[in-house]
Amino acid sequence: MNSANLSREETAARSAAVTLSSIRVELDLTGAPERARACFATTTTLEFESTAPETWLDFIGESVHRVTVNGAEQEVRYDGARIALTGLAQHNIVRVDASGLYSRSGEGLHRFHDPADDQTYLYTQYEPADARRVMACFEQPDMKASYTFVVEAPAGWEVLSNQAPARIESGVGVQRVEFAPTPPISSYITAVAAGPYARVDGEWRRDGQTVALRVFARRSLAQHLESDEILEVTRQGLDFFTDAFAYPYPWGKYDQLFVPEYNLGAMENPGLVTFTEGYLSRGAATDAQRAARTNTILHEMAHMWFGDLVTMRWWDDLWLKESFADYMGSHASAAATRFTDAWVKFAANRKAWAYQQDQLPTTHPIVADITDLEAAKLNFDGITYAKGAAVLKQLVAFVGEDAFFEGARRYFAAHAFGNTTLDDLLAQLSAVSGRDMREWSRAWLETTGMSTLALEADDVGGGSTLVQTDPRPHRLRVGIYRRVDGRIVRHDQIPLDISEERMPIRIPDADLILLNDDDLTYAKARLDERSLATAEESLSDIEDPLARALVWSSLWNATRDGELDPARYLAVVRRHAPREPNVGLLTGILANAGFAVRNFFADARRAREQRSWTEAAAQALREAEAGSDAQLSWARALATASAYDDVQSTEVKALLAGAVPEGLVVDPDLRWQLLTALVATGHAGADDVAAEMQRDDTGTGRTAARRALASRPDAAVRDAAWHAAWTDLSLSNDHLDAEIAGFRSGGRRDLIARFDAEYFARIGEAWSSRSIELASRLVIGLFPASESVTLVDRWLADNGSAPAALRRLVIEQRDHLARNLRVQAIHSE
Ligand SMILES: [Zn+2]
Repeated sequence: MNSANLSREETAARSAAVTLSSIRVELDLTGAPERARACFATTTTLEFESTAPETWLDFIGESVHRVTVNGAEQEVRYDGARIALTGLAQHNIVRVDASGLYSRSGEGLHRFHDPADDQTYLYTQYEPADARRVMACFEQPDMKASYTFVVEAPAGWEVLSNQAPARIESGVGVQRVEFAPTPPISSYITAVAAGPYARVDGEWRRDGQTVALRVFARRSLAQHLESDEILEVTRQGLDFFTDAFAYPYPWGKYDQLFVPEYNLGAMENPGLVTFTEGYLSRGAATDAQRAARTNTILHEMAHMWFGDLVTMRWWDDLWLKESFADYMGSHASAAATRFTDAWVKFAANRKAWAYQQDQLPTTHPIVADITDLEAAKLNFDGITYAKGAAVLKQLVAFVGEDAFFEGARRYFAAHAFGNTTLDDLLAQLSAVSGRDMREWSRAWLETTGMSTLALEADDVGGGSTLVQTDPRPHRLRVGIYRRVDGRIVRHDQIPLDISEERMPIRIPDADLILLNDDDLTYAKARLDERSLATAEESLSDIEDPLARALVWSSLWNATRDGELDPARYLAVVRRHAPREPNVGLLTGILANAGFAVRNFFADARRAREQRSWTEAAAQALREAEAGSDAQLSWARALATASAYDDVQSTEVKALLAGAVPEGLVVDPDLRWQLLTALVATGHAGADDVAAEMQRDDTGTGRTAARRALASRPDAAVRDAAWHAAWTDLSLSNDHLDAEIAGFRSGGRRDLIARFDAEYFARIGEAWSSRSIELASRLVIGLFPASESVTLVDRWLADNGSAPAALRRLVIEQRDHLARNLRVQAIHSE
């Protein structure tokens, strides 16, 4: 194992021997604006007790210059990931002087030069283990300490960290900011940001507590910040969580920072939450996008308690914070903000992620067995987040909301600023609910997979049987829906506790039966024959949005599983999606439809379905209400579809030329999407891309231009994109994505199938030489959409000893491909 991949065993031994009390980190970022400068100076001083004479510090950087232990300089023993410490006393002060590297991969201290105004922006991103790219530290969540950050940076910049500044010294062209020491926190949630960020100030007050709220973005994006809404949601969330958790916000100020080239949605650094700029739109956004941003703001805010105040001991219990935060994102959206339909989107979209992941051969229990950091990195997945949240929703149905929140309150009170495992939470939940939570934990947290619920009509007697595969104890409600005056409305609900494989049930006459009405449990619920017919005929007549979400979800699961012909699914979409008023649902449906067209049909059928889909999107766009979110969503769907079929290229050109339907805002991002579709189908070229760059010479514009250029339907262009992706080490994370997307653009297997074998020859080397973030993008993004699994099976057979995390990714991609081929074969003509 390479020495950067820390194991659970060795870190447990280290925290048993070493008790950390404080870390002082001094960073010199004054040279950041100079692009040629790759390094920054980082000095760490750690104070700790040790029962062992030696241990190690984690650091991934350019070099280590000096190591001092209790005043005596030691020989530097540094292997690129670990610094050996020897001759330790009981009480130790260790100082390390080193050079760190500015990052372009979003891991560690990321540096971004904004081409719009030539400004430089820095921010850190660490989870699970990249703090060591910025400072020498003990990189494991159970070694909490008080951190003091001292940052030197150019004068005039905003300089930010978890706490407010305690002292600022100004020099000529530079400033030195010393931040107040943090309460005890883990290394992965420490944070630093610096740059000429634009700022909006706000405040939140409650019960004598005053919290400064600040929102930041790059200057060139400041006009798109929507800070009023962000601050309003922030106040609503702080009101909600301080009440619900009965523990005052513990981190002083609350900064929220939108940053470029970000690898994830957001990160819960206490007092300094970072978000992707993807949450800021450059002109046109649907309310579904604002709902998603709100959900994420509240998810991260829940982490201020779940995760930051009380932290999992090791990554096995990552779910302890992520499942809760995911649940709270939807719960608090619905309870405290204008986005009251958050659970509708959760039912259809978020749970689809869980169902998909849980059917992969690599699925795992919610409480996972995470032996090392590479495994931890891959577990930020649909199980840990979405399934965990869905299972908590089922838990709330069992014990009630009051007991659930009372359990949480006791958990915070008992473990504030400490580390926990599953048992600590179960103990509190058992105490408040009076139920034995061990059994619930065994059934839901420590198993994999899901039940499929279906209704079988009995042969005699006119009764029915509720059948569940992979039986578990579910608390659910069966919804009975009938057609009344052209609407499908709920007539009755039958509450049920089931744990058996088969359970007799009396169902009144119904046009539509929903086996998981209200979406209480985590299971795939099938539609019986009559309900399917009702859905095909009248889905958009169902009054309740959550019920529609469950029907859409059921249809999608049946399609993925090969039980429903994807052509029938698409017919339902073409008929009912244009009448879907819930834009969150619509967004998910359009994405699923596009995916089905591209993946669930073999050649001739695919071309036919692609054509009908592209035409349907164009028609829905023409007929959508002026200025509506639906209109914008269909415009985006048309742009996506038009990269695969040029039947609407005249309309696409017209949209770009300004002939747009009344009310539609074509913002720079939609323009790029439309233009890229034209480029991918040969209706536009490099000159058009250059002209668009003139209109939008920004960071986002340059990334989009790179993607558009790589999308040209020309073998030499795709060849260049392929080689850039694998070999151009100067590409940032976003630029790498642009090359990958360009390479795959339009699904042109005729241009890229020749690289299939080379992919398998390259991934091992990429895994060992690139950072795990970039290597994962290559392995997933360039996995060949072959016509068989022969090549991938050969690689798996020949590479049994490849790193487990790499094998996991390849096995998952193989499973996606095998599923597509299976669905294609079942429904082929
Ligand atoms: Zn989270």
